[in-house]
Amino acid sequence: MILFIMKTRKRLLLLLSIFLLTITALYAQDLSEIERKIVERVEANHAEALQFLETNVNINSGTMNFDGVRKVGQNYIDAYNELGFETRWIPQDEVNRAGHLFLEQNGTSGKRMLLIGHLDTVFEEDSPFQTFEMLDESTATGPGVNDMKGGNVMILYALKALKEAGAIPDAQIIVALIGDEERAGSPVSKSRKDLVEAAKRSDVALGFETATGFNHATIARRASFSWMLEVTGRQAHSSGIFSERTGAGSVYETARILNRFYEELIEEYLTYNVGVIIGGTQVDYDAENIRGTVSGKTNIVPQTTIAHGGIRFLTQEQGERAFQK
Ligand SMILES: [Zn+2]
Repeated sequence: MILFIMKTRKRLLLLLSIFLLTITALYAQDLSEIERKIVERVEANHAEALQFLETNVNINSGTMNFDGVRKVGQNYIDAYNELGFETRWIPQDEVNRAGHLFLEQNGTSGKRMLLIGHLDTVFEEDSPFQTFEMLDESTATGPGVNDMKGGNVMILYALKALKEAGAIPDAQIIVALIGDEERAGSPVSKSRKDLVEAAKRSDVALGFETATGFNHATIARRASFSWMLEVTGRQAHSSGIFSERTGAGSVYETARILNRFYEELIEEYLTYNVGVIIGGTQVDYDAENIRGTVSGKTNIVPQTTIAHGGIRFLTQEQGERAFQK
């Protein structure tokens, strides 16, 4: 049985490079009057932005830490109130998640913009990685500095600089800070309903999560799903393994299937990973939390093996082809 479940991205190494100052200094001489003003405001607010990042990184907001997600959200409610944006907290009790924060400037001219961030991180309260730290004067580490508390700060301080420079367009601007990006509430038709609605009444959507490294803009993102393979064998004494009656057991069979994925399912932009594998005579697997317990005997052919992994693909068609295979 292979199940495909909607799953979100995870980042292991999280680094935020604070490069705005350098870039703006390099190009300052070619800027128009208004652009110079914007740069001035970015520079003036830089220390405050960094402090705001540190404050929010030091609040644990693992997806399942609802209090933490709300606390980070509250800091943004206060900040956007100051910018004159309408703030709307959308509870997600129905899908067992903290909620989303939507911030909106009403406006009538220009392109309608949707700026997307998320409040949660992959680091739950039991993670050993909890604290913001500057590694040198332009690089910081901490849970979610890159994915994507740094991006959230960029959205806020870009808008703030525009506002202070008198350059913010009189346009509809929606900032969507999702509360369960790393582990979406189910069904996604509910947990992503408000984001979809906001997108439908916008002309342009920009995501502020760094995907391909700094100094790049990404114009396509791959879809990401998780899959689960559950293999059942015939439990028997190991002396009979490989016989017609006993077979090879669930562990060998799983290895055979995974090896075929590895050998035959290779194409550009398609990647897949086995994150966890668990097999034996007694398997208890918790797919939601990706952990489990197992027992077996060296002289017993195992009956159950579960492999759980992720897959990414660029187009719907590529995904369907991979699932089919
Ligand atoms: Zn993210």
